[in-house]
Amino acid sequence: MKRVSIFGATGSIGQNTIDLISRDPESYDVVALSGGKNVSQLADDARKLGADVAVTSEPALLPELRERLSGSGVEAAAGPEALVEAARRPADWVMSAIVGAAGLPPGLAALEQGATLALANKESMVCAGPLVMQTAEANGGRVLPVDSEHSAVFQALIGEDLAAVERVIITASGGAFRDWPLENLAEATPEQAATHPNWDMGQRITIDSASMFNKALEVIETKEFFQIDPALIEVLVHPESMIHALVGFRDGALMAHVGPPDMRHAIGFALHHPERQALPVERLDLVKLGKFTFREACDARWPALRLAREVMQTGGLSGAVFNAAKEHALDAFIDRRIGFPAMAEVVEQTINRVSAESGLIAAGITLDNVQAADHLARVTADAIIKKRH
Ligand code: NDP
Ligand code: MG
Repeated sequence: MKRVSIFGATGSIGQNTIDLISRDPESYDVVALSGGKNVSQLADDARKLGADVAVTSEPALLPELRERLSGSGVEAAAGPEALVEAARRPADWVMSAIVGAAGLPPGLAALEQGATLALANKESMVCAGPLVMQTAEANGGRVLPVDSEHSAVFQALIGEDLAAVERVIITASGGAFRDWPLENLAEATPEQAATHPNWDMGQRITIDSASMFNKALEVIETKEFFQIDPALIEVLVHPESMIHALVGFRDGALMAHVGPPDMRHAIGFALHHPERQALPVERLDLVKLGKFTFREACDARWPALRLAREVMQTGGLSGAVFNAAKEHALDAFIDRRIGFPAMAEVVEQTINRVSAESGLIAAGITLDNVQAADHLARVTADAIIKKRH
């Protein structure tokens, strides 16, 4: 039996992971499940899967979680420290699917106990890529990508020599506003931004797809995951979302990963790696699809892509600042305190101010420093947002 834990179990990736393991309950021993506000879903899944412990990130919801789990034999816990404690419980395979920088500490704790970390939480790589990779290496753990583009690149690289890679292209649907006139973006609402043309995902990543902050995070994730020179990483808009990434080699070959927009492929690949097992994913009818199209991803529409390149150039803790500023600006957009195009402006101003006023950017990438940079970026972004009014 494979011992598995799922962090962010109540979310979109978490529920898809549960869907896969529930199809074969004999093969899995569920150690820990975590959620946030949705303790009803968390308790139901923890009962159904017979988890050892269920953790909500919200301490105020612990009594409700306890109540819902009473008589089940599942332990209840709450708060960020309880998440880390749960991640320290021995497991073979741990899904990291919390949204945001909050996913980093439990992911590191899972790697410290030598688990294989299936990483959907791209924020971990953006904030602390070198720390994540070193923690895995030092403890005999392993990180496997779950983000569809990175799973695609990983699969295209199997058996290949990284030195022969000439370019890595990750694709983007372009999100909800791909075809909107630029001048209309200032009026875009959170509800409009949270509608994705192809993928069914959590609210935050869906809005990040419209702004391309999601792709910006993924470009940085690509650099950190595969140790690829940023100059070799490209983004292409591919409205059909069927080709997730392409890897170009020096002999001119371009290996594309093609599949329907269903995260259960990438989750299942990471769950069964190095084997390939059958997955309940639609088989594409290529004749019916007829064609795949591509467009350039322009910086004028999606300034987040330019910011990602600047962050990679600066290095250090600039990724943590970038991510936290983005998370804070996204909160402000969801709360209707700023407009859609203002998110990128706030992030850029935050990076500039933090870089100018603090030596923190150049500090070492430790968990403490990442959390300090994260905090400083949120405070700075907040001040910038308040000043706009
Ligand atoms: P969701 O918003 O659907 O789910 C997020 C999960 O994290 C939920 O379980 C939520 O709990 C929990 N959570 C929220 N805030 C906190 C917090 N502060 N501390 C601990 N737990 C918290 O997100 P997705 O599943 O869409 O995304 C999860 C991660 O996977 C993100 O990093 C995203 O970028 C990445 N990803 C997602 C893809 C997708 O298809 N959805 C594709 C590729 C990557 P609750 O809901 O109970 O409040
Ligand atoms: Mg992705």
